Amino acid sequence: PVDRLPEIQAARLKLPVLGEEQVIMEAVRENMCVVLCGETGSGKTTQIPQFLYEAGYASGDGIIGITEPRRVAAVSMSQRVAMEMNMSTRVVSYQIRYEGNVTSDTKIKFMTDGVLLKEIQKDFLLQKYRVIIIDEAHERSVYTDILIGLLSRIVPLRRPMKLLIMSATLRVEDFTENKKLFPRPLPVIKVDARQFPVTVHFNRRTPTDDYVGEAFRKICKIHRMLPPGGILVFLTGQAEVHSMCRRLRRAFPFRSNRTGLGDDPKDTEEERKWFKKAKQKKMLSLPRINLDNYSTLPVDEGDEDRQAGIGDEEDGSDLDLELGDDPGDEGLEKCDPMLPLYVLPLYSLLAPEQQGKVFRPPPAGTRLCVVATNVAETSLTIPGIKYVVDCGRVKKRFYDRVTGVSSFRVTWTSQASANQRAGRAGRTEPGHCYRLYSSAVFSDFQEFSEAEITRRPVDDLVLQMKDLNIEKVVNFPFPTPPSMEALVAAEHLLVSLGALEEPPRDMERVRLSCPITPLGRAMAAFPVAPRYAKMLAMGKQQGCLPYVITLVAAMTVREIFEETDRPAASEEENAKMAQRRARLGQMRRLWAGQGASLLLGDLMVMLGAVGACEYAGCTPKFCQENGLRYKAMLEIRQLRGQLTTAVNAVDPEARLYLDAKMAPPTESQVLCLQQIVLAGLGDHLARRVQVEELLDPKWHNGYKTPLLDSPVFIHPNSVLFKTLPDYVVYQEVLETSKMYMRGVSAVQEE
Ligand code: ADP
Ligand code: MG
Repeated sequence: PVDRLPEIQAARLKLPVLGEEQVIMEAVRENMCVVLCGETGSGKTTQIPQFLYEAGYASGDGIIGITEPRRVAAVSMSQRVAMEMNMSTRVVSYQIRYEGNVTSDTKIKFMTDGVLLKEIQKDFLLQKYRVIIIDEAHERSVYTDILIGLLSRIVPLRRPMKLLIMSATLRVEDFTENKKLFPRPLPVIKVDARQFPVTVHFNRRTPTDDYVGEAFRKICKIHRMLPPGGILVFLTGQAEVHSMCRRLRRAFPFRSNRTGLGDDPKDTEEERKWFKKAKQKKMLSLPRINLDNYSTLPVDEGDEDRQAGIGDEEDGSDLDLELGDDPGDEGLEKCDPMLPLYVLPLYSLLAPEQQGKVFRPPPAGTRLCVVATNVAETSLTIPGIKYVVDCGRVKKRFYDRVTGVSSFRVTWTSQASANQRAGRAGRTEPGHCYRLYSSAVFSDFQEFSEAEITRRPVDDLVLQMKDLNIEKVVNFPFPTPPSMEALVAAEHLLVSLGALEEPPRDMERVRLSCPITPLGRAMAAFPVAPRYAKMLAMGKQQGCLPYVITLVAAMTVREIFEETDRPAASEEENAKMAQRRARLGQMRRLWAGQGASLLLGDLMVMLGAVGACEYAGCTPKFCQENGLRYKAMLEIRQLRGQLTTAVNAVDPEARLYLDAKMAPPTESQVLCLQQIVLAGLGDHLARRVQVEELLDPKWHNGYKTPLLDSPVFIHPNSVLFKTLPDYVVYQEVLETSKMYMRGVSAVQEE
C-alpha cells in the first residue's frame, strides 16, 4: 500500500492520466504491449509506474523498469516518484551510465535506455523485470528504437512480461503499424491532452540571424508589460543560453546582481537560505490545475487567427507583442532593478544542482525566466510557465556518412517540436507562445523530426547487436532502419578493428553478416565506442591500462574543458575571456608534460588534467580555477571506476584497481600508449601537407586525410598547434569555422 501525503494525493488527482487509470491498467492486463500517448505534463512518467506498482506488478520477483533517453530525466523522475510515493530511494531508484542508487529492495527502476540495452547483453530475457516502460519514445533516440526492436522479440518469450511504450506525441505508427516489429497493430491509448489553451503569436517577419537579440527584446517586453507568470525561452545551445542569462540579469537585476552561476559566495549563501525556505513550501509549487476552468482547446492549432481572441484576456493588456520598428525597443537594455527577474539556465551539460533549481518556486516578488535548450521541450515539465518564447531553431550534430566528419548546425526545428514547445506554456493556466518566425516559415518546417538512428554512425549499435548474436543486422526489426551506407560503414570499421571476422575477399555481399570475433565480444563488454573499446582490449602491455582507461574515459565524456571561445557580451567580458584563455593555454602546456610525452599531444593534456584534478581531490574550486568542467571530471572518475571493473571482468588476471592519482607515464609507456591509440584511431591518420606540395593557399598548415578532399587543421587550442607534427592521429574532425581535428596526438615516424 502506498501512503502518500494528502497534498501529493490532491495534486495527482488533477493529472490527466489519473482519469484513465482503469483503462490503462486494463489494457496492460489484456495485452503484452501497449502504447500510451499523452501530452507532456499529463503525468505519464510520474504516475504510470505508480499505477503498475499499486496493481501489484512489482510485488513478486519482478520489478518495474522504466527507460529515459536523457540522464537528467532518469535521475529527477526517480526522485520525484519516490517523493510522491513517500518511499525511500532504495525502493524507487535510478541507474545511469555513471551512477545509480539501485539496491536489492528496488521495485521501480528508472534508467537510461543505454543502461537497459547493456542489461539485455547480460540477460537477454531481462528476467528481473516484470514490466518495461519505454518512456519518451517519440524522441526516437537510437537506443530507444533498438530496445523496442529487441523487446518486440523478448516480450513474447517472457509471457507474463509487459511492455509499455509512452509517447508525448500521437506519431506512433512507426511502432504500431510496423508489421516487422509487431505483427498485429498495438493498442494505443490516448490520454486527452487536458491543457489550458495556448495562444500562439507568430512574428510577422522572421529575423534572419539575430534571433537571440529578438528573443531578448521579446522577453523584456513580456516582463515589463504582461501579467505575472513564468517565461520559458528556447534557444539552441549552451553559449547562447549563458549570454542570454547574463543579458537578462543585467537588465533586471535580482538582489545582489547575480553575475556567474552561483559561484559568488554571497550569492550562494543567500540562495541557500532561500532554498531552505522554499523547500519547506515545496508542495505549494505543484501546479494548481483548476478543473472548472479547464478548457480542451488543442495546443497545436496555433495560427495567427488565434490572435483575434486576445481581447478577452485577463486585464486586456496587449498580449500580442509583435515587434516592429517600434521605437519602444530603445532602452530595453537599460537596467531595471524594480522588476527583478529570476533567471535560470537549463541545458543538459549543466550540473544537476543547478538543473534542479527550475523546479523550485522563484523568490517572492520575482518572475521566473528559464532560458533553455531542447531539454525543456518534453522530458522536464517546469512548473508555473505562462509564456514561451521560441526561436524555432535547434542545434543538432550532423555527420557525414562517408567521412564521419561532424558539425553542429543550427536548423529549423520541426512543427511537432514547435508545438511541444508552445504546449509548455499551458500547464498551469492559459498561456502564450511567442514564435520568433512567421507562420509561413512555420508551414515550411518539416512535420516531424527524424529518428536519430538515421542521422548518426551506427558502429556501436552494430557491435552490440552482433554481441547479441544478431548476425544479419540488416534484418533487425528497426522501427526506422538506418541507411545502408551507415550499416556498411559500421561493419567496415568493426572488421578493421578486428571485432568482426573479415569476409572472404570475393564475397563482398556477405559484408553485412560478418560474425563477431572473440576480440569483438571483449570489446562489446565495454560501455564505450568500439574504437575506444579496442584500445581497452589492447591496453594490457607495459602497465598501460590505467592510462588507457583514463584516456578513454576522458574521450568518452567529451568537453572536459570549459568553453572559452564563446562570443562575449561586452568588452569587459571579452578581456576576461582572453585572460582565461591565456591561463588555460598555460595549464595545457603544463599538462602536456616534457620529452616523450609531448608526442601524445592533446591526449597527454587530458591525462594530465585528470591526474592533476584527482591529485587536488577533484574539487569544484580546482576545476573552476583551471578551466575544467566539474561535472565532466566527476563523470570521468565514475567512468574510470566502471571501466576498471569491466576490464577486470573481461580479464580477471588484470587485477586492476583504480588509483585515482596516477603518476605520469614513463617514456616507454608513452610509446606504448601511442601504439594503442593508433590501434583504435588508425583510420584517423592525417599527414601534414609539405611546403613543396602547396598548390593552393587553403592548404597552408593543413593536413591531408585518406577520406577527405579538403584539408583538416589543428585547432589553436591544441598543444600541437605550434609544433605541427608531420603525422598525427585525431579523435574526430569537427567542422566549425574550419575543419578542425580534435584530440590530436603525434605519430612518430619509424
Ligand atoms: P509526463 O511524463 O506526461 O510529461 P510528468 O509525469 O513528468 O508528465 O509530470 C506530471 C506533473 O508532475 C507535471 O505537472 C509536473 O509539473 C509535475 N512534476 C514532475 N516532476 C516534478 C518535480 N521534480 N517537482 C515538481 N513537480 C514535478
Ligand atoms: Mg514524461
